[in-house]
Amino acid sequence: MIAEEPAEGIMKINDWGNSKVYRVSCTCGDENHAHNVWVEADDHDVNVTVYTTTKTNFWSMTRWYHIWTLLTMGYIDTESTVCMTKQQALNYSKTLTNAIEDVEEFQKARSSK
Ligand SMILES: [Zn+2]
Repeated sequence: MIAEEPAEGIMKINDWGNSKVYRVSCTCGDENHAHNVWVEADDHDVNVTVYTTTKTNFWSMTRWYHIWTLLTMGYIDTESTVCMTKQQALNYSKTLTNAIEDVEEFQKARSSK
């Protein structure tokens, strides 16, 4: 299997040359599982940040349990999983590789001016 173009499960959201944003969807289709991936180049390095907005899983425990945990521990654990097909995972890795090369080249071209 080789990476597809355009890529299944990977959507490009934004591209400012030195930074690109992708949205990685979950095979289950739940938007709450989707991850955002930022690939950014600064003057020295390339950073890749992956984040997801999670909702507290209030249904798994009672609300009082969560409120008590928050009061006593100061935080509530939440977890988010993104599931990918083999094809999507390949696309993901290829997208990352290309994005890193792109932002690096853009930054090099800009700094040599
Ligand atoms: Zn999911």
